[in-house]
Amino acid sequence: MAIKTMNKCNFCGRSDKDVRLLITGLNAYICDECVRRAGEIVDEALEKQATTKLGLNLKTMPKPREIKDFLDQYVIGQDEAKRYLSVAVYNHYKRLLQKTGDDEVEIEKSNIIMVGATGTGKTLLARTIAKFLSVPFTIVDATVLTEAGYVGEDIESILTRLLQVADYDVKAAERGIVFIDEIDKIARKGDNPSITRDVSGEGVQQGLLKLLEGSIVNVPPQGGRKHPEQRMIPVDTKNILFICGGAFDGIERKIAQRLNTHVVGYHSVENTAKIDKNNMMQYIAPQDLKAFGLIPEIIGRMPILTYLNPLDRTALRNILTEPKNSIVKQYIKLFEMDGVKLTFEDEVYEYIVDKAIEFKLGARGLRSIVEAIMMDVMYELPSTKKKTYNVTLDYAKSQLEKANISRLQNI
Ligand code: ADP
Repeated sequence: MAIKTMNKCNFCGRSDKDVRLLITGLNAYICDECVRRAGEIVDEALEKQATTKLGLNLKTMPKPREIKDFLDQYVIGQDEAKRYLSVAVYNHYKRLLQKTGDDEVEIEKSNIIMVGATGTGKTLLARTIAKFLSVPFTIVDATVLTEAGYVGEDIESILTRLLQVADYDVKAAERGIVFIDEIDKIARKGDNPSITRDVSGEGVQQGLLKLLEGSIVNVPPQGGRKHPEQRMIPVDTKNILFICGGAFDGIERKIAQRLNTHVVGYHSVENTAKIDKNNMMQYIAPQDLKAFGLIPEIIGRMPILTYLNPLDRTALRNILTEPKNSIVKQYIKLFEMDGVKLTFEDEVYEYIVDKAIEFKLGARGLRSIVEAIMMDVMYELPSTKKKTYNVTLDYAKSQLEKANISRLQNI
């Protein structure tokens, strides 16, 4: 008489009577409980692999001070924004390395929003920090985004770029950082959103909210519009850090309004006296973003709010020569490749800054002014035997007058 043997899970040894489900393989069995555990082990191992592959390690991780020191080499001033960014990146790394399940504490991500006039260094900060990062990083522009069904790009396309820089390694992309430039362009246009369809306003903000708060979104691998035949890649945004930047033109007025209404009362005289009217941006608060047209849910998902200072004379002067790849250093290098030692009279720098201020060209204009001054020399010099060249104030003046600087104002 054949003895009916009981089937047992080959992993935990329990019989089919003691488990809910026993799955049969070629020569073995596995119970539902062991499948679940194995799934967890696989998940954990893959997560760990992804983090290790990115080279993240608590010991070798750059500290906020080191990150800021690095930013200092390329970006002039903007200390506040640099400190916030450095801490945010450091904490982002820590979050990626945290062990889940150890205790109840889970470090949540803190997306950042940077507010500052155009040309004060927001994109430069983002690009510079990217050089330093060991996680995938991309810069996207919010102006192209529109509500689904309209001309423009779907919100999910923000993540397409991230997938591309991560070579479509989804696990790596899910640990990345995205810089969304011109976030102010998706602010609600009017106070009453129902008057006209606001395709690039509130609808986009609602879509963006989904990305910011952490959910699984279907990303079109080639970007652009989603279409039915396209295979989508699901990406979990829970661990993706978002850094947003915007000029928020005119927000100073909202800040001033708020400050004026708030400083009535006992301390009012004292407080109003302390307000630096030349740099209202430093007083920015979340409610100003709301007054500008961002929905409260979006603002709530970017708990770190920081600002960039307007660039003053000294900052512009320093931008010319101090950064590691300053405009002047770039020209010196260009000439060096021809075997020519290029020098500038100190007054030339002052003159360039004067002109940038006079024509309201800001930091972006510095390059065009230098370019206009150097054009003829760059044309002539390589055909001569000269080994040195000194740019004098007189020469700079005459070249710039010839170049008709008003032309440069349209940049
Ligand atoms: P934003 O993104 O704030 O509009 P950018 O970062 O694009 O401004 O700045 C434009 C250019 O001006 C930069 O490429 C850089 O050459 C120069 N620039 C602006 N701000 C700074 C700064 N703080 N330090 C050094 N260069 C700067």
